[in-house]
Amino acid sequence: MGRLFWLVALALAGALTGYLLTRFEGKPPHLEVLPGSPHVGDEETIEVRTFDEGTGIETLRVWIERAGQTIPLVEERYPGDLFRGADLDVERRIEITLRPEEYGLTDGAVVVRAEARDYSWRGNRTSAQATLWIDTVPPRVVVSTGLTYVRRGGAEIAVYALGEQSREHGVQIGDRFFPGYPHPTDPERFIALYAMEPNVRPDPRAEVVAVDRAGNRTAVPLAISLIERSFPKARVGLSQAFMERKVKELLPNYDGDLLEGYLQVNRNLRRKNAEQIVNLCAHSSGERLWAGPFLQLPNSQVNARFAERRTYVYQRKPVDEQTHLGFDLASTARAPVPAPNDGVVRFAGDLGIYGKTVIVDHGLGLFTLHGHLSEIAVEQGQAVVRADELGRTGETGLAGGDHLHFAVLVSGVFVDPLEWFDGRWIREHVEAKLGGAEPGPT
Ligand SMILES: [Zn+2]
Repeated sequence: MGRLFWLVALALAGALTGYLLTRFEGKPPHLEVLPGSPHVGDEETIEVRTFDEGTGIETLRVWIERAGQTIPLVEERYPGDLFRGADLDVERRIEITLRPEEYGLTDGAVVVRAEARDYSWRGNRTSAQATLWIDTVPPRVVVSTGLTYVRRGGAEIAVYALGEQSREHGVQIGDRFFPGYPHPTDPERFIALYAMEPNVRPDPRAEVVAVDRAGNRTAVPLAISLIERSFPKARVGLSQAFMERKVKELLPNYDGDLLEGYLQVNRNLRRKNAEQIVNLCAHSSGERLWAGPFLQLPNSQVNARFAERRTYVYQRKPVDEQTHLGFDLASTARAPVPAPNDGVVRFAGDLGIYGKTVIVDHGLGLFTLHGHLSEIAVEQGQAVVRADELGRTGETGLAGGDHLHFAVLVSGVFVDPLEWFDGRWIREHVEAKLGGAEPGPT
């Protein structure tokens, strides 16, 4: 009897000890204060997460501290009791939308502090904090380029200074945004190359835009004057043999109507390739890699110019219209294609209507595209210098004969290559604004 009593007593004592140890657990809760961004403009979301491995979370408090002042944001008590702990053994997450104006918070640093306490009889606490910089003043933008004449289809450069570090800045022309980069020779300034698309409206809205780290946005007008010009028109006759050959090459699984197949290539594939090119040219080296005028395919004849409006004729009927956004340069068949300037190969491979294609990033948003190649001699990521061989001319993609399709792009927008071939234009429009660079060969 005595032995059984002691066994039961021992078991009860053990259970009680276990219970008390659980209730008295000494593990403090996990707690994190996670602002969406430490720079707060009109509003910012702050996430607070807490979890307790032992008895569970009892209370969570969040408040703002600034210069000895305390502003409560959240005070929560989660269900449970001291004998069983929290009802739910879960991570607690709260999202606070902080609008500085609501609390009369002016610009400057504030601390968001949180404290979580668990259901342990010891009342374990954890506190965490995040420092936020409240900034409700839009960035200051000072444009240093004066009135600038830009040709329709041409490119230009804006130079500007920013009053504070910005997460995004550049030139906005209509709905096109051209990102800016640090000025290559002036540490106080920034530059943005921008382009006037061939179909830009006659009085385009042009602005230098900056968004600071807290999301405040400034837009300052950019003084530009658009020089009008007309673009060439051409008729392109489509032969049955050409269409058969190209539909077979570019739509290998297609077996429907020939003209419909050709139009699919000329319209849908062309549009898809244009999107691919915009994506490929979305990110450029922040360094200016080129110098001087761009090299044209040696001994080449220009067969088609920039922004030529083409009417496609089949069996004496116009069947389609497209704009040709590059230069067609013809030399001898399989002529070596030189890198027109220094840069890094951004793309080397098949690109639909452009066939075998090389795209070179020259930095600061400037790219060149080399299409219809028969052979590619470079790889993506490879650095090239002016006159390095990129490949050989050919007639891959939508080309009727051996030639090079050469295009220049500014942040994904096609511009007239003629300006970039022209040493004088480069000096007056590029060097004059970027300064400091060695004059390149002419
Ligand atoms: Zn072409």
